[in-house]
Amino acid sequence: MKCPVPCFECNTFTMELDLTKDHQHIACERCERVWCAVCLGRVEIKISEEWLRRQRVAHLN
Ligand SMILES: [Zn+2]
Ligand SMILES: [Zn+2]
Repeated sequence: MKCPVPCFECNTFTMELDLTKDHQHIACERCERVWCAVCLGRVEIKISEEWLRRQRVAHLN
């Protein structure tokens, strides 16, 4: 079962998300970016934890 998803960057290219798969990478051919809900989520969490740590360190100094 495939679901069309507009690219989150350019919003003009339509990518196809396979709803039967949990982890998959969908690519926009227009801006040549690869998107993944799972990896993006992990990256976001990683960045915010690191960011908070840096903020705390910066605050202590
Ligand atoms: Zn795009
Ligand atoms: Zn991924």
